[in-house]
Amino acid sequence: MCIFCKIINQEIPSYKIYEDEYTYAFLDISPLSQGHTLVVPKKHSEHVLEADSATITHCFNTIKKITHHYDNVLRSSGYNIISNVHPSSGQTVFHTHFHIVPRFTKNESLFDSLKEHSSEENIKMTFETIKIA
Ligand code: AMP
Ligand code: ZN
Repeated sequence: MCIFCKIINQEIPSYKIYEDEYTYAFLDISPLSQGHTLVVPKKHSEHVLEADSATITHCFNTIKKITHHYDNVLRSSGYNIISNVHPSSGQTVFHTHFHIVPRFTKNESLFDSLKEHSSEENIKMTFETIKIA
């Protein structure tokens, strides 16, 4: 059984923030900011692109509840909501999860380190290669 399934089943301890029929939310043990939280569906899938739509909807309902609550108790002013897919993205736990990273006053993108492809030339070349219609 995977580590997040074990957390959901209370076989491994966690700082549980919220639980309902479909989802479980707990604090990340290596937080990127105060209140960094993981929302996971109880139904196992490897990553968000393999999860069914209903499962994703349940997760987002929970994300909305939690961020609304954090607006009040943490006074956070924004959130990065991230789901890593495959090891090349940094995924290390292969049970679908959404990171909620509360943000405060810095106005700084978490994606700054990925910006080497941001030239106009690169954008045009990529567009010609990947457009669908
Ligand atoms: P990812 O890199 O998207 O797969 O994220 C996995 C996250 O799970 C990381 O941010 C870890 O810090 C976190 N994590 C791993 N094990 C635990 C655990 N036992 N309790 C809480 N968070 C965990
Ligand atoms: Zn699992």
